[in-house]
Amino acid sequence: MNGNSGPPTALILFGPPGSGKGTQAKLLKDSLGFPHISTGDMLRAKIASDDPLGWRVKGLMQAGKLVPDEVVNQLVTQRVQDPDCEHGFILDGYPRTIAQARVMQPWLRGLGYDQVVIHLKVDYISIITRLTARRVCPSCGTIYSVTSSPPKVADHCDYDGSRLLVREDDRESVVRARLESYDRQTKPLLDYFAASGFPFHEVEATSARPQEVLSMIRGFVER
Ligand code: ADP
Repeated sequence: MNGNSGPPTALILFGPPGSGKGTQAKLLKDSLGFPHISTGDMLRAKIASDDPLGWRVKGLMQAGKLVPDEVVNQLVTQRVQDPDCEHGFILDGYPRTIAQARVMQPWLRGLGYDQVVIHLKVDYISIITRLTARRVCPSCGTIYSVTSSPPKVADHCDYDGSRLLVREDDRESVVRARLESYDRQTKPLLDYFAASGFPFHEVEATSARPQEVLSMIRGFVER
């Protein structure tokens, strides 16, 4: 896959919250040149810009619950029609329910996209440790960990000096609620993907470094 020849590719990153979907999507964006479409980032942008949609979803996100399918379906179908998605794109955090996949997969197939699903497997104890240590730059989106990849100056972004934030939904009680939503509403998608006939690959990502996970994903995508 080189982004310019053959059918366009929808690379779907799947896995529990904190499995590294966002980190991998950023690395893949740089290496494949495809845009990164994160429904979580799109929803947080709606909240930050005081958009009415943001008011509607804020409480759900703060409680670790999923937002309604029709909201994210609409965000993604609009975004995918932007010209930068013509050769391919990376979906991070979508689809997250069977109802979302039932809308998106036939739609993308109709548009001629090849779909590749990557499942990042990480154990839940590691997820709780990772997410409660996560810090995010509100300006450039760079992700740090106070335990494994701290910024050079405590609490400040290496690139633009912005003060780093803890995502509101990274508090432990909310992380547990997000994992519960994942188990109940998102995990059943694994069977759906397996039955859908699209290429589906698992990456054991609990103790692998981000660059190692990236090369495993690239290996699957380039097959
Ligand atoms: P994570 O994958 O670590 O939970 P995200 O940034 O992808 O983080 O999502 C944050 C929150 O945004 C979710 O807990 C949920 O409330 C909402 N959200 C994101 N994507 C979806 C989706 N596809 N369907 C429903 N809700 C979503």
